Amino acid sequence: MTPTNSLLFLDLRSLNLEHRDAFHQALDRVMNSGQFIQGDELSSFEQEYAAYCGVDHCVGVGSGLDALHLTLRAWDIGPGDEVIVPSNTYIATWLAVSHSGATPVPVEPRLDTYNLDPELLDSAITSRTKAIIAVHLYGQPAHMDAIVAIARNRRVRVLEDAAQAHGACYKGSRVGSLGDAAGFSFYPSKNLGALGDAGAVTTNDKALAERLRSLRNYGSSRKHHNEERGFNSRLDEFQAALLRIKLKYLDGNNAIRSELAKKLIDGLRGTDAVLPEVPSWVQPAWHQFVVRHAMRDNLIKRLDDAGVQSMIHYPIPPHRQRAYSDTPLAQSCLPISEKIHKEVLSLPLNPLMSNRDIERILSAFQQREQGF
Ligand SMILES: *Cc1c(COP(=O)(O)O)cnc(C)c1O
Repeated sequence: MTPTNSLLFLDLRSLNLEHRDAFHQALDRVMNSGQFIQGDELSSFEQEYAAYCGVDHCVGVGSGLDALHLTLRAWDIGPGDEVIVPSNTYIATWLAVSHSGATPVPVEPRLDTYNLDPELLDSAITSRTKAIIAVHLYGQPAHMDAIVAIARNRRVRVLEDAAQAHGACYKGSRVGSLGDAAGFSFYPSKNLGALGDAGAVTTNDKALAERLRSLRNYGSSRKHHNEERGFNSRLDEFQAALLRIKLKYLDGNNAIRSELAKKLIDGLRGTDAVLPEVPSWVQPAWHQFVVRHAMRDNLIKRLDDAGVQSMIHYPIPPHRQRAYSDTPLAQSCLPISEKIHKEVLSLPLNPLMSNRDIERILSAFQQREQGF
């Protein structure tokens, strides 16, 4: 049982109640407009989010999974094609490829950044490879210059999975602007979270944006005319209105995350935990603060005893999930990913936390240093 005074991993209730009055006004505005799907709130949010990411187009869709899946479809990627994915990511990255009909080809990450190892990419590309999905895992941008250079050289596309990295920067540019297109999720617990499901694609490619607008809407870009067999995957007016409010706080909240992360890194130096490595050219969004520990269960218990909730992102790698047990992917040899899945632990890190919460996390680690 969790004691009532424990440090919650993420308190979504409090996080959203901070905007209660603004939310109520926005919901009233939508109700009074009488437009609930594909109205002014969505087009305003799309413009605002495209500007925020520094791209020409943003297309709102129903979820992060749909953002990735529909982009692959819009690129006509399907059966017989291969798409490179990181071996350690949330399974949605792989599912997007599987739903398109193409085959996910896992490539191992670097153990220090947990992101795609560019040195392993070239040998994973075949004549069937159509795209690379680069995930900015835990909010830290992948090494995009190296990834894009290899992709250009081999004539494959780059799709960013930016579901965990809203607002993160790579060499001064925002994620969402670093490849040919990017998929975002606004799932409630993400750095920019709706109060339900939502997602978006950002891109500078006008033709891609237009195709996505059709694909999300039954394959129709003109009422009663269906150019292709599309989907129903739209970002509704209520969620768009709430996201417009929360977007204004994204940079401020990411800055708080960044300060807290710095305090955790400073305070945990010299302990038995392996700390996040941040290359000097990235500014992470700190979606998760992830440490690695050889005796993870022991660490979870120490944190538990101190009333600190922790979580594992993720306990089972995609190739070990039942979802892929009937495919050759189940036999993949991915030792780095497996090591990561056995050892990682996410500590609480969110904009509601105070210095006292940081102290509490640090003291749970210090108990071990004193012989525990
Ligand atoms: C959350 C997430 C997704 C999926 O987003 P949904 O909106 O839940 O569909 C995809 N990729 C990554 C890396 C994620 O963290």
